[in-house]
Amino acid sequence: MTAATLRTMLLATDGSPDAALAARVAADLCRETGATLHVVHAWQVPTLASQAEARAYPDEPVTGHSAVYEAYAQRAERLLAEQLAALYDAGVGSVREHLVNGHPVAAIVDLAAVVQADLIVLGSRGLGPVGRLVLGSVSEGVAHHAARPVLVLRGGAAAWPPRRLVIGADGSADADRAATLAARIGRACGATATLAHAFPELPLLPFETPAEGRARRDEAMRRAEVALEGRAQRVEALLGRRPEVRVVVADPAHLLLSAAEQGDGPALLAVGSRGLGPLQRFWLGSTSTKVLRAAHGPVLIAPHQPLPVAAQEHDAGRAAHPVGG
Ligand code: ATP
Ligand code: MG
Repeated sequence: MTAATLRTMLLATDGSPDAALAARVAADLCRETGATLHVVHAWQVPTLASQAEARAYPDEPVTGHSAVYEAYAQRAERLLAEQLAALYDAGVGSVREHLVNGHPVAAIVDLAAVVQADLIVLGSRGLGPVGRLVLGSVSEGVAHHAARPVLVLRGGAAAWPPRRLVIGADGSADADRAATLAARIGRACGATATLAHAFPELPLLPFETPAEGRARRDEAMRRAEVALEGRAQRVEALLGRRPEVRVVVADPAHLLLSAAEQGDGPALLAVGSRGLGPLQRFWLGSTSTKVLRAAHGPVLIAPHQPLPVAAQEHDAGRAAHPVGG
């Protein structure tokens, strides 16, 4: 578990209530950690508006400096200026601002790479029209594509600061990175922590009796508990207090979501973007996707870092020759 530091943060804002919560959280974390804060607002002329303009002024180019383009550009400038003023009101020393004409997901993901953000902070919902969704397309897109940790805020003013961290710890490298970063954030917030490992129901092997199957599962869980204790010690060193450790036979997303909901005070859920599941093609695993979509409060996702090529070949070799190694 490497000691992730928070030196640079990128706040993405569209001026929505969830983005305002994200701004407060980014301001708090920057004050606590001394991190440099960047703020980005991306804007585009919606296709329908440019089509309408093209029909009204068929001889004028729509891009460049058309009236519609100028109106959207000015609105975006005003929005970013208001967000900056709010950040300075919240006591942030200095902010680097980025106004980008382009698709928000690409703008946020690319800028996070350029400024080497240690954390992207954004709201769960924005100003989009579909009020029933809990997750907007920008936050979901950033969570899926960013190669940097992402903190998605929701749940209103009462959701932050978290009193508890609920960390999904399945033994994967991504989960370890999520745990490290969550512990740093949790320390700044004075939070307690639970490290939870959901264990799958193991199918019976051929010729195995149910009692033998149970014994094998108990043994596997005992080994998982020992491994989790080691992780708990590393989290304790960063958090400043001992985390609770839970190894349970359950569906992982269900275990994490219910652990976040039971207990006193707001919780921050932290997961790795990919666990140990078999679908290596996908950037975000099914547990992190479910947690991100269904949690009532904030979610921290550590990005997937593929194994170095040499390690992948080594792993593939082991999978191809499971007996001989
Ligand atoms: P949709 O846009 O898919 O209809 P939505 O508007 O409800 O849904 P998102 O757009 O995903 O939700 O907004 C989630 C968060 O992403 C916002 O709270 C904000 O932090 C960030 N965000 C959204 N749009 C932009 C943008 N244009 N520039 C920067 N950040 C943005
Ligand atoms: Mg939106």
